[in-house]
Amino acid sequence: MKYISTRGEAPALGFEDVLLTGLARDGGLYIPSEWPQLSRDEIKSFRGMSYQDVAFRVMKPFVCNAHSSISEDDFEAIVAKAYSTFRHKAVVPLAQLDSNEWMLELFHGPTLAFKDVALQLLGHLFDHVLTKQGRKVTIVGATSGDTGSAAIECVRDRACAEIFMLHPYGRVSDVQRKQMTTVLSPNVHNLAVDGNFDDCQAMVKALFNDLSFRDEITLSAVNSINWARVMAQIVYYFTSAVALGAPDREVSYSVPTGNFGDIYAGYVAQQMGLPIKQLVVATNRNDILTRVLTTGDYSVGTVSPTISPSMDIQVSSNFERLLFNLYNKQGDDVRRLMNNLSQSKSFTIDGPELAKAQQIFDALQVSEEDTEATIGQVYRESGQVIDPHTAVGVQAARRKNADAATPMVTLSTAHPAKFPEAVEKVTGRHPDLPAHMADLFEREERCDRLTHDLDALKSYIRENI
Ligand SMILES: *Cc1c(COP(=O)(O)O)cnc(C)c1O
Repeated sequence: MKYISTRGEAPALGFEDVLLTGLARDGGLYIPSEWPQLSRDEIKSFRGMSYQDVAFRVMKPFVCNAHSSISEDDFEAIVAKAYSTFRHKAVVPLAQLDSNEWMLELFHGPTLAFKDVALQLLGHLFDHVLTKQGRKVTIVGATSGDTGSAAIECVRDRACAEIFMLHPYGRVSDVQRKQMTTVLSPNVHNLAVDGNFDDCQAMVKALFNDLSFRDEITLSAVNSINWARVMAQIVYYFTSAVALGAPDREVSYSVPTGNFGDIYAGYVAQQMGLPIKQLVVATNRNDILTRVLTTGDYSVGTVSPTISPSMDIQVSSNFERLLFNLYNKQGDDVRRLMNNLSQSKSFTIDGPELAKAQQIFDALQVSEEDTEATIGQVYRESGQVIDPHTAVGVQAARRKNADAATPMVTLSTAHPAKFPEAVEKVTGRHPDLPAHMADLFEREERCDRLTHDLDALKSYIRENI
C-alpha cells in the first residue's frame, strides 16, 4: 500500500515517510491508495480480544506492507507499549446512557482527551522509525488546548524529536495550559503567542510552506492532518461496534467534530467493512461542517468562542480527505476547491458529490444552551458527568437517531475535569482531576512568550534545537 496526496501533485509515499512528513509537498493530505477490507469473519474474531490485539489487526495493513520496513512483530510491540499508559484496562470503555444509547470513553489516556489514543501511538512510531534511521525531527504545532498537551506527552523525553508548541497567550484554560507547561523535559518548548489560535496556526502553516526552512530543521507535524492519527482512531469504532454486536448488527455513531479527523476515521472503518448505520457530525455554533453537509456551502466565518473550545474552528483540515473520496480521487477537483478556499474563503459542493456526502453523514449544530441542558439531562438521567464536547455529541445523537433498534454511540472526547467550570455550573458538582493529576496546579511551569512574528519564531526554533 502506498499513500497518495489529495491534490495529486506530490509523490506517492510509503507509511514511514507519510508518518514523518505530515502535510504533502503539494499542500495536500496523504491517504492510502485503497482501503483494506476486513471480512465479516475477521471482524467477528475481534470478539473478546484486548484493545491492543484488535488495534494491531486493524492497523496492520496500513503499517506493515511492501512499502514499509516496520515488521509485524515490531508493530505489535509498539501498539502494546502505546496503550499501556491508559488508566482503564479496556483502554476505551463503553458506558451506557439509556436502553440503547452508549458513550465511548476515549479520555483515559495521560492528558484526559481522545487525542491521546492516536498520539500515544504516534510517539512510539516516531521513536521506532527515527531511531532506525538515525534521524531527529523538529515538531512544531499550534494548539487551542487539547492537541498541545497530547502532542507534548507523545514526544516528551524522546531523543528523536524536539517539540515547539504554540498556544494563544491567555486564551487556553488553566488546566490545558498547566498540562503543557508543567512538562519540564528539555525537548519540550512551550510558546505563548500574542494573538489568537488562528494567528498561531497561520504561523505554523507558514513554516510548512517555507520549504527551505522546513528542510533545514527537518520539520514534522503531529497535528490531525497526519494520516497515522486518523489511522489510530479507526480502531475504536471496531472495538465498540463489536462489543455491541457487530458484524451481526449495525451500530451508529455521533461524533463531536472540529477538524473532521475523528469522524473521518469512522467513515474509513465503514469503508473497511464495519457495518455502521449512521455517522452523525455534531458541531457547536462554529458550524462550517454542519453547513457544508446540509447545504454544500463551505465558507469560512470568524471563530466564535464556546464552552466546547476544542471544536472552535472554522477551517476543518481533514474535510479535504473526504472531498478526495467524494470526487473519486480526482486531485484536480480537490485542488480547484482548495484554491477557491484560499482565494475567496469559500467553496461549494453540489450535485452528486453533495448527495453522496449526505448519504454518508447526518449533521447537527448544537447551541450553547442545548449543550448545557444536555450535561444536566444526562446527569439527572444516569448520574454520568459529561464534558461539553461530549454533550454536543449526545444532543446530536438524540436528535438525529433514525432507528431506535440500532445502538447509538457518542464518542466521549474529553474527561469532564478538563472543563470544570462548564460542568460545575450545570451539575453543581466540581469534577475532580484523576489521582495522577491531582497536584497539577502545584507543579512548576515553563513557557516563553513570543510576539506574533514569523521571523521571531524561526529564530527561537534555531536557537533551541
Ligand atoms: C480535538 C477535539 C475534538 C474534535 O476532534 P476532530 O478530530 O478535530 O474533529 C472534539 N473534542 C475534543 C475534546 C477534542 O480535543
